[in-house]
Amino acid sequence: MRKKIIAGNWKMNKNLEEGLALASEVVNIAKDEAPNDVTIVMCTPAIHLSQVSAMTADSANVFVGAQNMSEHESGAYTGDLAADMITSTGASYVIIGHSERREYHFETNEQLAARVKLALAKGLTPLFCCGESLEVREAGNHVEFVTNQLKESLYDFGAEDLKKVVIAYEPIWAIGTGVTASAEQAQDMHKSIRASLASNYSDAVAAEISILYGGSMKPTNAQELLGQPDVDGGLIGGASLKSRDFIDITK
Ligand code: PGA
Repeated sequence: MRKKIIAGNWKMNKNLEEGLALASEVVNIAKDEAPNDVTIVMCTPAIHLSQVSAMTADSANVFVGAQNMSEHESGAYTGDLAADMITSTGASYVIIGHSERREYHFETNEQLAARVKLALAKGLTPLFCCGESLEVREAGNHVEFVTNQLKESLYDFGAEDLKKVVIAYEPIWAIGTGVTASAEQAQDMHKSIRASLASNYSDAVAAEISILYGGSMKPTNAQELLGQPDVDGGLIGGASLKSRDFIDITK
């Protein structure tokens, strides 16, 4: 059975004090209320990683992730974050290829392939993001666009490595806009992604990989989206900044 994952992407929000307060609420509420079979991840800004990781150390199902990672191991890359730095904080996940990074930092599929490779080599679980713009969706090319992102960044990996990757489908037009993909649109794309995994690897490999949906997921629409057979969890932006909403989504 593949993992059910609810990952929060705090993006560039919360100073140190505010972030620690949020994380502590999430850990406390999760302990009493979150279902045991759901893996919860908080992807925080780099400044919070180490202290939030310490807060989650005793928790069986709450983990911490970074939001980005360099494809280089170390060196003269001012402002970047290395895989070893992330693991040294106790964090175990890393978002790779979020559409905001692709857009504002011009990250390419090829570069993201190198990051996924390095993350896996360092024992981090990559949350690999894919998703199309409104323009691509309206032209009817969304499935082709997304499967090409997967092909160029992931399909050179062997099956054992690929199975360690979590895929997050996030249509750009649904991120932070309040417009959610309908449950049917999400399921259709997730099904196409799984079919692409199956045809490039095998049915068994495709059945093991968790595919998360992201884009304006909140407590009021989570049940319908997460009820789809190929939607295995969520990558939550805005609603992950409120502990109550975030934990309600896990339920
Ligand atoms: P949103 O962001 O939930 O605020 O739409 C999701 C994401 O970008 O990961």
